Amino acid sequence: MHADLMFHDALRDLVPGRDHGPLCYPVDRRASVKDVIEALGVPHTEVGRILEAGIEVDFHALLAAKRYDVFPVAAPWDVTAASVLRPEPLVKLRFLVDENVHRLTGLLRMIGINAAGCPGMADADIARHAAAQGRVVLSKDRRLLRRKQIVFGRLVHSVHPWDQLREIVDLFGLKSRMHPFSRCIHCNLLLVPRPKVEIQNRLEPLTRKYYQVFQECPKCQRIYWPGSHHDRMRERLRALGISD
Ligand SMILES: [Zn+2]
Repeated sequence: MHADLMFHDALRDLVPGRDHGPLCYPVDRRASVKDVIEALGVPHTEVGRILEAGIEVDFHALLAAKRYDVFPVAAPWDVTAASVLRPEPLVKLRFLVDENVHRLTGLLRMIGINAAGCPGMADADIARHAAAQGRVVLSKDRRLLRRKQIVFGRLVHSVHPWDQLREIVDLFGLKSRMHPFSRCIHCNLLLVPRPKVEIQNRLEPLTRKYYQVFQECPKCQRIYWPGSHHDRMRERLRALGISD
């Protein structure tokens, strides 16, 4: 007895040696569909839908001698909506960024998205942290993403940090909901507007002369203003199609 597992679209690249056609998998032990998918190298976080002989099933379905069609998560992925595979959605979209893609942390904060880092954290702690805080884990580590506690995650494919940003913006549909330059790059906190008169003694003379609008991080108290750095970032976002 065997099951036929057909991995669709981007998932195909995660299963070695699978160019086309379904993969034969022996049904010789009691195993869930999720266990089998992960044994073949695909973290459960990447799977958006599973059909067993054409009928949608969840991760706990026991593998039978049937055909399984396994589809990737489709964009835009709304993690605050329940689905068959993830019946308990997140309260809001927030990320936990693994060290192997750590430059995404600052880039996501730059476009206003809540992104926590986890420098030096062990895999078990990352998983626990993600579960406790309800965060989507971004990583290049398939082993990490296979952890049960991580319900929402994404195996980042791109190499360059800006391409990684575009990948995440596209998958989670962030383009219409991002607020560039609203969050502290260092602390992940939302900035608060500060009248110039209150902070002008902390500004360099040229900044004081040419800029009128300022924001401050409530934690580290860095001052932010829409200077040339913003223009360069906006240009880059436009070039990548991340903003209009
Ligand atoms: Zn700060």
